[in-house]
Amino acid sequence: MRCALEPERLDEDAAVALLHSPLGGADPMAERRLRQGLRALALAAGDRRPSGVLLVEALNDPRDLLAVERRWAAPAQTVARLLGTVREAAARPGATAEDTLWALWQASGLAERWSTVSARGGHRGATADRDLDAVMVLFDAAARFADRLPGARTEVFVDQLTGQELPADTIAQTADRGSAVRILTAHAAKGLEWDVVLVPGVQEGIWPDLRLRGSVLGSEQLVDILAGRELGAVGQTAALLDEERRLFSVAVTRARQRVIVTAVASGDGEEQPSRFLSELSGEDPQEHSITTRLPRALTLPALVAELRSTLTDPGTPPDRRAVAAAHLARLAEARVPGADPADWWGLPPLSDDRALHDEDEPVTVTPSTVESVQRCSLRWLLERHGGGARPTPEQGVGNLVHAAAMLATDAQVDRATLIDYVAGRFDEIELSARWLAGRERQRAEQMVDKLIGWLADNPRRLAAIEAAFMVNLDQVTQIKGRVDRLEVDEQGRLVVIDLKTGKTTSVTEADLPEQPQLGAYQAAIEAGAFAEWGEESGGAALVQLGSHTGVKEQVQPPLSEAADPGWAAELVKRTAATMAAATFQAVVNAKCRTCPVRTSCPVDVKGRHVTGPSS
Ligand code: SF4
Repeated sequence: MRCALEPERLDEDAAVALLHSPLGGADPMAERRLRQGLRALALAAGDRRPSGVLLVEALNDPRDLLAVERRWAAPAQTVARLLGTVREAAARPGATAEDTLWALWQASGLAERWSTVSARGGHRGATADRDLDAVMVLFDAAARFADRLPGARTEVFVDQLTGQELPADTIAQTADRGSAVRILTAHAAKGLEWDVVLVPGVQEGIWPDLRLRGSVLGSEQLVDILAGRELGAVGQTAALLDEERRLFSVAVTRARQRVIVTAVASGDGEEQPSRFLSELSGEDPQEHSITTRLPRALTLPALVAELRSTLTDPGTPPDRRAVAAAHLARLAEARVPGADPADWWGLPPLSDDRALHDEDEPVTVTPSTVESVQRCSLRWLLERHGGGARPTPEQGVGNLVHAAAMLATDAQVDRATLIDYVAGRFDEIELSARWLAGRERQRAEQMVDKLIGWLADNPRRLAAIEAAFMVNLDQVTQIKGRVDRLEVDEQGRLVVIDLKTGKTTSVTEADLPEQPQLGAYQAAIEAGAFAEWGEESGGAALVQLGSHTGVKEQVQPPLSEAADPGWAAELVKRTAATMAAATFQAVVNAKCRTCPVRTSCPVDVKGRHVTGPSS
């Protein structure tokens, strides 16, 4: 990429791509912590620029990285060092693209790392093989470029490479190999024929792939109109299905004599054969499922895996298990990875089985966590300890509107002040793309207008804005938080207002009377969190500013009007007990599908507990 050669062309997208590439090797957590570290340093110096700008700056000049915690700064330091190497190599007199590439390759250390992983085989080995092949193709392209244009600089090579609309495919150029197998996409196979054609991996979700793919200008809608198709998501899905079916038909009709189509059905239902398979054969593919196991690959990891599963399977005869154990012992002695039971994840005892809190230590519950802890305590625990999803741009816009709302006192609700506040700080928001700025800014201004409209009709009096509180419910349970607005109704009772800026509201009218967050606010009032203004709760409300329709106020009646006025306090105490426990339960719920810690959860096949051998 040209940005690697010219510091001024390095932008945020390229910086993030480099960080996550094998060169940087950063994971999303490392990137987040790095951004936080850079932002904290900048803020301390009065610099309010977004972390994306700081990240780009740090890759071009890594001095700031020295002040960031070493483990989070390390990937960025590596990328910065390699950028320096590339720029230096490219600037040498007479340097060719091949020279620059070679300098980068040597400095990266990837050759040794990928070769070692490749030699171990398995899934990771196959990936390393593919990566090595890709690098070979790149070197090949650089060599051909140097032959064609002697003396041309690296920048020209990069421009030529990135400007290719169709990659110069080395397979295509050497395709005439007699009886060799050709591997190509269904699109590329159009108009060609072979005696035998294999169409592998025809899985539902992959073929057809029905993810909606629109374009910025929506030109595909013109095609739909001309074809007389219904507009909108349903029409687009139907059109996609037609297109995918046509493509599948192209693939399977390329064979002159024999076509082999493969798919798998997993026992847990995660993987299913495509619907096109039954359309092709006219039968249910499940009825013809083949469960024959393929012979084991002739690699050490595969051998170790087979020996381990033989040893740990209680259904295997004892003499076979004993033989497997003896072989494993020999391999462990020879230091073959994975053979020694000391490395088996299912075997070590729990490192610590104590509860998260000591019995007499107070547990602090925030109103916003009550619902998540009650819904699935495992997700709450994992998210709280680093498994949370990255903050979205919507959250940044929401935080800005919340901050602007602090200026909206009863006495002074001046639209211009609030809009100026939003405009003045909008550039500090981390958006996924800068072109979204206009739309998101408009959304923020619409929320400000909705807030002003809602305030104009609000019959209550303002007591406090962004009021922090902490109060004990009993000897071990504390509620702590901050309310967006604390208001007083005509009977002198306190009402908490929570401003919501999300695009959708997840609280239905039926859920409202026992909505946990609002209930926790009310319990806090009655426990004396705002004793300065009173201890009687007049209810609590969500004010939805972000929905596409107008502003919506969702009111929870006062606790005193509930059949059990103590339900909210009890719920908070139960939440505290769950948070302080030694074990945390995975509870399947409607939000599992989008759960960010799903791969660490036993309800998911990838997060299932690794067990050790049974005796
Ligand atoms: Fe809980 Fe579901 Fe997430 Fe598992 S996938 S942690 S059950 S929310």
